[in-house]
Amino acid sequence: MKQTINNWLKNSHLLNIKSIASIFLKPHCFLCATNRTQKHGLCSGCLNDLTWAPANSCLQCGLISDGNLCGSCISSPPDFNATHAVFIYAYPIDTMIQRYKYGTSLSLSHAFGQLLNEKIRLINNVDAIDLIIPMPMHPTRLKERGFNQALEIAKVLDSLLCKSKISKLDYKNAIRKTLTPPQASLPLKQRVKNIKGAFKINKDLTGKRIAIVDDVMTTGASLNELAKTLKQAGATHVECWVIARTLPH
Ligand SMILES: [Zn+2]
Ligand SMILES: [Zn+2]
Repeated sequence: MKQTINNWLKNSHLLNIKSIASIFLKPHCFLCATNRTQKHGLCSGCLNDLTWAPANSCLQCGLISDGNLCGSCISSPPDFNATHAVFIYAYPIDTMIQRYKYGTSLSLSHAFGQLLNEKIRLINNVDAIDLIIPMPMHPTRLKERGFNQALEIAKVLDSLLCKSKISKLDYKNAIRKTLTPPQASLPLKQRVKNIKGAFKINKDLTGKRIAIVDDVMTTGASLNELAKTLKQAGATHVECWVIARTLPH
């Protein structure tokens, strides 16, 4: 199965007639192209090979713990109250997210949105959340990339979670006002410094319970800064809902 996933990752940037045909014909696995699709366009073999987040994660920050709060969240709690991640950020999920983010596998927003929906339904009372806010992107970055990867996942998630009810998606009132350099290669201290004051909220959120949707949570510096800003605008509870959580090396 690993080999078939590798093949997909190698070829997914090419226009694949076979996979386009499969959309109109019977369902094929998104990664290995067998027609034994189970869920989210994936077969059971490929689903098993994904790096699912373990159940014993820290309730607040999502890192490996004993299923309660980790030491770091007890001694210096983050501004968000909970973290729910579908996967650990490792191969092949890391490569899939990179492909998605940089626009070569845009259709993955559907699979990611569906997977996040299932995770949230398992562990959360959806009615207890008032608003779903995707991690905002700076307008300059949006222009460069053409889409906000967190918003596309949040749209799918919102349509599944809220179904016939009123949408909870709010992607207009949280703004990224500062263009920060890419955070990936920076140490935590620098990330925290870069992101400080980067967000602005254009809405009174008094008493609101909010879920922030993002693709990857690395150090959590951006999510923490947004959570802090949401709370300054009146939110009482903020959760991070992410596709993948990076574990420290
Ligand atoms: Zn497969
Ligand atoms: Zn923790």
